[in-house]
Amino acid sequence: MVVILKEHPNEKQLENLKNWLGSLGLEIHTSTGAKHTILGLVGDTSVVDIDLIKALDIVEEVKRIQEPFKNANRKFHPKDTVVDVGGVKLGGGNFQFIAGPCSVETEAQICSIAQSVKKGGAGFLRGGAFKPRTSPYAFQGLRAEGIRLLLEAKKETGLPIVTELMDLNQLEYFDDIDVIQVGARNMQNFELLKELGHLRKPILIKRGMAGTLQELLMSAEYVMAGGNEQVILCERGIRTYETYTRNTLDLSAVPVLKSMTHLPVVIDPSHATGKAGLVRSMSLAAAAAGADGLMIEVHNDPQHALCDGPQSITPEAFDALAENVRQILPFCQYSYE
Ligand code: PEP
Ligand code: MN
Repeated sequence: MVVILKEHPNEKQLENLKNWLGSLGLEIHTSTGAKHTILGLVGDTSVVDIDLIKALDIVEEVKRIQEPFKNANRKFHPKDTVVDVGGVKLGGGNFQFIAGPCSVETEAQICSIAQSVKKGGAGFLRGGAFKPRTSPYAFQGLRAEGIRLLLEAKKETGLPIVTELMDLNQLEYFDDIDVIQVGARNMQNFELLKELGHLRKPILIKRGMAGTLQELLMSAEYVMAGGNEQVILCERGIRTYETYTRNTLDLSAVPVLKSMTHLPVVIDPSHATGKAGLVRSMSLAAAAAGADGLMIEVHNDPQHALCDGPQSITPEAFDALAENVRQILPFCQYSYE
């Protein structure tokens, strides 16, 4: 990090600044030019609040040279992270389908979808029990009962479960859940992320609809700073001025994130497009872009789904999609290590 000072900085304020930076464990290299003095900061600058320095009277400009995320940074950990859930691996060349309904509705529904997507090649079953809905009058999910039904489906199929935790008071139900999903609306719920950092199970973080890639990585950093290194990133579309699709799928997020971080990156084409008819093409595009996996909403009766029916594909469509993706995967392996 480089701090450029204004001309003729107040000596006392400069000394205070240097003392403070020194107290953060940083080494300070001062170079005095004809007009400006520049402080070069060496050490772990991820602990420095850049805005605090910028706000000082004597400071003209502050530039970060190093990204503010360390644990998630590929520069410090070149090797791909492989998330391993009882032998089901995701990342580092291991592609996975995470498939299932938007919401768990009944035992028959979740178990039948679980059987179907397993046959189609899914490595994980998804399904929402605690649902973040825009309207308080919409179906809110079966909650604790939904978790119980997901675990029934897991017992029947052996598929590990990915499901969303909306609030820490729900954590007591998640002991046997394999991967905890943090939804787009909670990407920057820092207290939630910090607590999940104390767990030792994978956390799938969905990109907020107005979240930048750096912000997504900082959210991963929150979890990792607590010692939980098993984080999966999920691009699920961002909000733009386009209204034809539910969101706009930012596919360039895949190569950008993969160059910046060693964490696995998956794409959710269902929430990204909001249209079942677009899921297959966007899945293929995601695989071609180098994604480590796909999270896809699959429903046995999309027309009567309690949530997100229009973007849900049938088990038959999932079979065909997965087969198509497998055909192109051998051409889509890019190494960033
Ligand atoms: C979901 O996956 O069911 C979901 C609610 O997604 P998002 O948080 O991306 O909207
Ligand atoms: Mn959904």
